[in-house]
Amino acid sequence: MPSYDPNNIFAKILRGELPSYKVYEDDKVLAFLDIMPRSPGHTLVLPKAPARNMLDVTPDDIAHVMTVVQKVAKAQMKAFAADGVTVQQFNEGAGGQVVFHLHVHVIPRKAGVAMKPPASEKEKPDVLADCAAKLTAALTG
Ligand code: AMP
Repeated sequence: MPSYDPNNIFAKILRGELPSYKVYEDDKVLAFLDIMPRSPGHTLVLPKAPARNMLDVTPDDIAHVMTVVQKVAKAQMKAFAADGVTVQQFNEGAGGQVVFHLHVHVIPRKAGVAMKPPASEKEKPDVLADCAAKLTAALTG
């Protein structure tokens, strides 16, 4: 497996070199909205420590990421009146991974509504800002 590339786009977001619609942060984990959401409120949860994916992350870091995934999923049920949540995570190109800093997709779902295809459409900034505000409120409230 190739080594971690510190110039990947999520590493730049973590260093504050690129913007994101942040919804949660602690000392080990950052969560922000996917800018090409598969449903409104689609969130990415990632460890702050460099890890390419599930294959090189430390057990402590992945455990904490999954704790935050659960928090985000519960908050999405409330914030978006979701009927369910889909959690996805991809490893290496063959496993569907495109950005090589470990991230877990947390996707709120409505009954009977299909997810959009991956990376189909960049969402409008005002829609992302509104989703981020709703989710942040549910996470902190
Ligand atoms: P994957 O590596 O297959 O899990 O896919 C990477 C995900 O990152 C896709 O769902 C993209 O829509 C998303 N993405 C790419 N660039 C950004 C960005 N700058 N901010 C938020 N999400 C992004």
